[in-house]
Amino acid sequence: AVFYQELPKVELHAHLNGSVSFQTIEKLISRKPQLNIEHSMTAIGKGQRRTLDECFEVFKVIHKLVDTEEDILMVATDVIKEFAADGVKYLELRSTPREEKDTGLTKKNYIETVIKAIQQCKNEGVDIDVRFLVAIDRRNGTEVAMETVKLAEDFMLSSDGLVVGLDLSGDPTVGNGKYLLPALEKGKNCGLKLSLHLSEVPSQLEESDLLLNLPPDRIGHGTFLHPEVGGSQSLVDKVVKNNIPLELCLTSNVKGQTVPCYSQHHFNYWYQLGHPSVICTDDKGVFCTDLSQEYQLAASTFGLSKEDIWKLSQQAIDCIFAPEDVKQQLKHKWKELYPQVF
Ligand code: IMP
Repeated sequence: AVFYQELPKVELHAHLNGSVSFQTIEKLISRKPQLNIEHSMTAIGKGQRRTLDECFEVFKVIHKLVDTEEDILMVATDVIKEFAADGVKYLELRSTPREEKDTGLTKKNYIETVIKAIQQCKNEGVDIDVRFLVAIDRRNGTEVAMETVKLAEDFMLSSDGLVVGLDLSGDPTVGNGKYLLPALEKGKNCGLKLSLHLSEVPSQLEESDLLLNLPPDRIGHGTFLHPEVGGSQSLVDKVVKNNIPLELCLTSNVKGQTVPCYSQHHFNYWYQLGHPSVICTDDKGVFCTDLSQEYQLAASTFGLSKEDIWKLSQQAIDCIFAPEDVKQQLKHKWKELYPQVF
């Protein structure tokens, strides 16, 4: 286990409010005792599984606990420090800017506060490079998506390179990507990178086909893209031809029941193809995991050696959204750390 902790890692798929740890949830609960929220309502423990629907109910509970600038600052700071303590050297956090009428929180404040947390951690010398992806919740439709892209664009220009892209996420059974296409196109054209949740559930073939034409810069999950699980070869071909990396989250998919068990996770399909596949956590708080554990699970499930695992974490550097000089710095760091880890 020490190896996986010491392994330098890149985390590319982490939803802020899904990443809140037990300790931070306790602090939030004590700030808002009147909500009567118990910890069992915000996390899915070892061996437990929930339907995807139930997982999305969990996010609603967490959102009640995180509804002020102060909460967001604490949550983001804690999450960044926890990833750093787990050996993550580069992190792309994503979050859906929310407006809360009761507390006066605006979407702009929301993003500003996440950026503030990133800057504070940097100033404190926390050993991690953090970037931010502004998330579009698919259920909110065209207009909100456009508004989110506009905000992301403004922050991309004013945040000193901290805002690097857009995420498309939210309950995959709600809404349709086709209405979000213009907003995503606009974002792409102004230089925002795109990480899109695709084919998280089986019914999204047409939507995935459409969104792959953008093409996105990375894919979240892509669980049902390949023909063995009802996807299609033409979808796989599009992903391969455009060399679009996949962000793969083992525990999340098993606990959320979109994948029947670890050994049947689609990591194996894409890894065998030699396609860029990045191990990620998705929601480390909700699914009670961390990135070291996810790498360890990949190794034990698919029989990967420590060298294989090292390569996997190193290859993730090529999939980050930050510019080339950052990639070079990270590659240098990996080289330096190699003798320490082995
Ligand atoms: P937030 O964006 O920081 O509030 O993080 C929670 C949000 O992330 C949820 O409300 C969803 O929109 C999104 N999310 C988290 N996990 C998943 C997932 O597995 N699939 C799709 N969306 C997700």
